[in-house]
Amino acid sequence: MDYDTVNYQTQIKYTASCFVFLRKQNFVQNKISGIGYIDVHTHHFNEQANVLGLLNVYPEDLIPQQPYLSCGIHPRQINEQSYTKELERIEALLKDGQLMAIGETGLDKRIDAPAILQEEVFIRHIQLAEAYNKPLIIHCVKAHNDVIRLMNKLKPAVPFIFHAYNQNAQITKALLNYPVYFSLGKALHHANSHAQQLLKTVDLNRLFFETDDEKTNIAATYCKAAEILQVEEAVLIEQIKNNFAEVFSITFV
Ligand SMILES: [Zn+2]
Repeated sequence: MDYDTVNYQTQIKYTASCFVFLRKQNFVQNKISGIGYIDVHTHHFNEQANVLGLLNVYPEDLIPQQPYLSCGIHPRQINEQSYTKELERIEALLKDGQLMAIGETGLDKRIDAPAILQEEVFIRHIQLAEAYNKPLIIHCVKAHNDVIRLMNKLKPAVPFIFHAYNQNAQITKALLNYPVYFSLGKALHHANSHAQQLLKTVDLNRLFFETDDEKTNIAATYCKAAEILQVEEAVLIEQIKNNFAEVFSITFV
């Protein structure tokens, strides 16, 4: 994702004023009702009652009072002086039961932060995910082999959800040997993208859809996927709900 701090802060204020609306979505004892679409990674508050949007927040943010949150240190935000405190904040949120997932976190070879520091912070997120049994939302740019190396070393049991996934068949095949899921978003709308190819070849039980930092409707991505696969959208809605229920240990009623 390409985050925008100013917009995000505006979003958080908006979120705080709207949380009562979200509470209408039933979230009691891990049972969720009234959901159709799932947006597994978004930076924008979602106000549609039939959409479950897993809202990404950063440790320094005011945490919105809504049940579907993930929190992590994006590789671009890593600050050597403050990351330990931020990880403590994430752990406090986990202890409080406020997070459904950890992330986005990961490795990014486009940015200046030293690889060794990125890896240290990423490993700490993986260890937290293991300790609290939460899925990870993974941000990975040109570093998939490094993530595989870490999975081999750490042998995590929790699922890794690669967000904004748009990699070639060779990388996808290598990743499928691990407990990973692919979240498809913007790239699915681009003709002949890797994401479009992947959608046609990978088992649907390894997929999610997302809007990330785009201000688009998640339904448009479901619609595009249904068109590519030539299936009814309802088939995808059901499948992604099943995937989400399994990965996040919740029940849709
Ligand atoms: Zn993102």
